[in-house]
Amino acid sequence: MQIDKTIALVSGGGSGLGAATARYLAEAGARVAILDFDGERAAAVARSIDAFAVRADVSDEAEVDRAIEDVAGHFGSSPRIAISCAGIGAAARIVGREGKTSFDVFDRTLKVNLYGSYHVMTHAARRIMELEPLAGGERGVIINTASVAYQDGQLGQAAYAASKGAIASLCLPAAREFSRFGIRVMAIAPGLFHTPMMEGLPEEVAAEITNNIPFPDRLGLPEEYAMLAGQIIANPYLNGTTIRLDGAVRLPPR
Ligand code: NAD
Repeated sequence: MQIDKTIALVSGGGSGLGAATARYLAEAGARVAILDFDGERAAAVARSIDAFAVRADVSDEAEVDRAIEDVAGHFGSSPRIAISCAGIGAAARIVGREGKTSFDVFDRTLKVNLYGSYHVMTHAARRIMELEPLAGGERGVIINTASVAYQDGQLGQAAYAASKGAIASLCLPAAREFSRFGIRVMAIAPGLFHTPMMEGLPEEVAAEITNNIPFPDRLGLPEEYAMLAGQIIANPYLNGTTIRLDGAVRLPPR
């Protein structure tokens, strides 16, 4: 699908991978909407690229539905591209010290990462279905963000890995379901990227992480995630699968 002049929604666009993707799409001529829980950061990114910002919590279905309605109202048409980058990554053992369980972390992580992506996909897709098809019968593209933890979940990542595994698993059935409308569904599973999520780590922990990355032996750049999102949008034959973007890293057990 052509990016130029196409309306694109990016959740989590106020920071990190989402902000880089919003910038990339705006530079490629898309009309970009940023949906984020953090309204101020979303507005700041939006101002810098002449995009539209809308505040919503992706874990709340009604808020997502309303936010996409606002985007459609602003641009005069619904977005054909919906990219979910909103996510959280709290670590917790399933059963911690002294038998302390962590269902609260599991519940919150699935609500934001999995249900959040599901809500954005659902409410974007139901609107894309109503749009006229473009060349080749294509109507839209949905990209969700998994993580390499969907395959290499580390100790303490049970909740995060479960949320990302489900995102990878729903890609194919969603692509199959939406195929008759010409809507593609893809997922990107990033390795370790240089975003605010990572910047908080102590230097020695960051160095240990980088040592495990074969090549390039550095953290991924948010622009590299954005570039893959752009390539997925452009290539009509990419559908129903999850792409690891990771410099060949395989996460060790801990
Ligand atoms: P980030 O923290 O820089 O950005 C995440 C954005 O999502 C923030 O702007 C935040 O306000 C927003 N957000 C969080 N909860 C939300 C909610 N409930 N509703 C709406 N917005 C919400 O993170 P990032 O590193 O850019 O990560 C983006 C995605 O990529 C996440 O899903 C993350 O799990 C995934 N990922 C990141 C890495 C990495 O190394 N950075 C690796 C693998 C996967």
